[in-house]
Amino acid sequence: MTYLLTGKRAERKSMAQWQHLLKKSITSPGQLAGGFAAQGAGLDGVVQRYPMLINPYYLGLIKEVNDPIWRQAVPDARELVDTVCFEDPLAEESLSPVPNLIHKYPDRVLFLVNSQCAMYCRFCTRKRKVGTERMVITAESILAGLDYIRRTPAIRDVLVSGGDPLLLPDERLDQILSGLRAIPTVEIIRIGTRVPCVLPMRVTRSLVSILKRYHPLYINTHFNHPTELTPEAAKACGRLADAGIPLGCQTVLLRGVNDDPQVMRRLMHGLLRIRVKPYYIFQADMTLGTNHFRTSISTGLTIMRSLIGHTSGLAAPTYAIDAPGGGGKIPLVPEYIIDRGPTVKFKNYCGALCSYEDGA
Ligand SMILES: *Cc1c(COP(=O)(O)O)cnc(C)c1O
Ligand code: SF4
Repeated sequence: MTYLLTGKRAERKSMAQWQHLLKKSITSPGQLAGGFAAQGAGLDGVVQRYPMLINPYYLGLIKEVNDPIWRQAVPDARELVDTVCFEDPLAEESLSPVPNLIHKYPDRVLFLVNSQCAMYCRFCTRKRKVGTERMVITAESILAGLDYIRRTPAIRDVLVSGGDPLLLPDERLDQILSGLRAIPTVEIIRIGTRVPCVLPMRVTRSLVSILKRYHPLYINTHFNHPTELTPEAAKACGRLADAGIPLGCQTVLLRGVNDDPQVMRRLMHGLLRIRVKPYYIFQADMTLGTNHFRTSISTGLTIMRSLIGHTSGLAAPTYAIDAPGGGGKIPLVPEYIIDRGPTVKFKNYCGALCSYEDGA
């Protein structure tokens, strides 16, 4: 009995902990402390257009100005002078049969159920609306989404995303997941969340006990740099994995953050150690306000070449570009075939020539 009470008390304390952390987030560059503050001057215009929110946990990962954590979280004057990219690069709004539900592929949908995040990534594809009043999610819009999924039996895979779904209160998330599970044509549920990376203490025991009731449930999380692989993140991912939830990671290739073979290799290995399977590395979308984050596709291909064969296949995710205009994800694969004749010739991962007498 005493033991149970202690457990409950501990849980109440940890729930309070993540909510407390979120409350203490900084939302303007002027709030950056000490030597960081001067760097934040003059960025209020950026924040008026694209919100800033950095919770104390993620803020604590910044070691110096312009390091990979800083770049992901702190506003930059270049966000307002991008003349290359587009507000809605993936044409999500025109692919939404009901607001905040994107139906692009025949058998799966992206269902946006929350507009808030535990940190607003400066490179976010949905920065046109995430964290602002332009992203209106209500009980009615969620019911409309559920209704669309119910009327569209071809949908067998629902990706619950946002914003960050795991910032919803436990009970709300429980309702949404049970609403989805009540639709017999929905085979699998996926949650897209950056919480294990940016606010891992949100992964409480009570959250996990809710999630595990909705199997088969997958989580795709989002880490971009080895610095993010903290003991707290490891604990969050361990809890989810122990609940039988397969974990994937969708990393975004970002200039000045992870556009380097050594950094990416350390990230991929570190993810596997915390039981997260690298799923995608994305070429950065052409999102208005994020042009300074983009790299060349050949940088991405070089990184993939440095992974494939040189380390385990588990550490080599699919490198893909989400086609501008809503064409969907296209894998970008380094070329290994050098001749497609009756004898197919290849170069292997080390550059050695190999050949294969092709079959019928
Ligand atoms: C990425 C995405 C999906 C899921 O794609 P997978 O390759 O199955 O992970 C589904 N719908 C939309 C709109 C997407 O952007
Ligand atoms: S967590 Fe995801 S949705 Fe939220 S700001 Fe970052 S990339 Fe965008």
